[in-house]
Amino acid sequence: MTLAIWSFISSTGPSEPGPSELRIGETPVRLRVSPRARRLRLSVDPRTRSVLLTVPRRVSRKRALAWASEHRQWIERALADIPPPRIFAPGEIVPVHGEPHVIDWLATRPRKIRLEAGRLICGGPLEGLDRRILRWLKAEALTLLTRETREYAAIAGGRLASVGVGDPVSRWGSCSSRGAIRYSWRLILAPEFVRRATVAHEVAHLVHLNHGPDFHALVAEILGTDPRLARAWLKRAGAALHRIGPR
Ligand SMILES: [Zn+2]
Repeated sequence: MTLAIWSFISSTGPSEPGPSELRIGETPVRLRVSPRARRLRLSVDPRTRSVLLTVPRRVSRKRALAWASEHRQWIERALADIPPPRIFAPGEIVPVHGEPHVIDWLATRPRKIRLEAGRLICGGPLEGLDRRILRWLKAEALTLLTRETREYAAIAGGRLASVGVGDPVSRWGSCSSRGAIRYSWRLILAPEFVRRATVAHEVAHLVHLNHGPDFHALVAEILGTDPRLARAWLKRAGAALHRIGPR
C-alpha cells in the first residue's frame, strides 16, 4: 500500500539530520531520506505493519512530516485493511505446499503431527499447539529445501556449504559467497513450483554471485521451466504468507 505525491519540492532547504523514528498520532513512522526519491511517499508493509515515510533529499523533514500528518487517515485505513494474523488453532486453515489444510486437532491423539489430504492431523494438549505446528512446518521446510537444494546443486555444480531456514521479512532465500544457502521457512506454505524456483535461484548463485545473463540461463537450465511465473506468484501472494502463524 503506497501513497505518493509528485508535485512539490520544498524551498526550506534539504532534509536535516534528526531522529528517523517519528509518530503520527499513535502510529510510529519510520523516516527514510532517499537521494533517489523524487517525491514524498508513504507506505505500509503488511508483513510488519510498519509505516515508512520516504523523503527526497531536497524536502525538509518538517514539510515531510506535515504532509504525512495530513494523510493520517490514509495511514489508519491502510493499517486497518491488513488482514489479521492467521494463528494455528483447531479448525483454522493453513496452506501447505500451496494447498489449504484444516488443523484437525484431538487432545487424545499423539502429539506427532501428520499431513493428510487437506488435513493437518495433530494431538496433545491445546496449550502450545501453535508452537508445535510452527516447529513442525519449519522442520518440514528444512528437510524438503535441503533435499531440493542438494538435487539442484548436483546439476549446477558449485560448492554447497550448508542449508538453513529462518524467517526473514524481505527475502525468500539468500546465498553467501561461501556457499551457505538460507531460506524462509514460509516457502513450505507456497506451491511447489514457487519453492522449487526459489531453490533453483539460490543454487545458481553457488556458480554466479550476480543476476547476469549466465545466472538466468543457469536458473532456467536447473529448473527446466520458466521461473517468472514463480516470481509473479511471490510478488502477488508472498506478503500474505507473512501473516500466517505465531511470530
Ligand atoms: Zn539472487
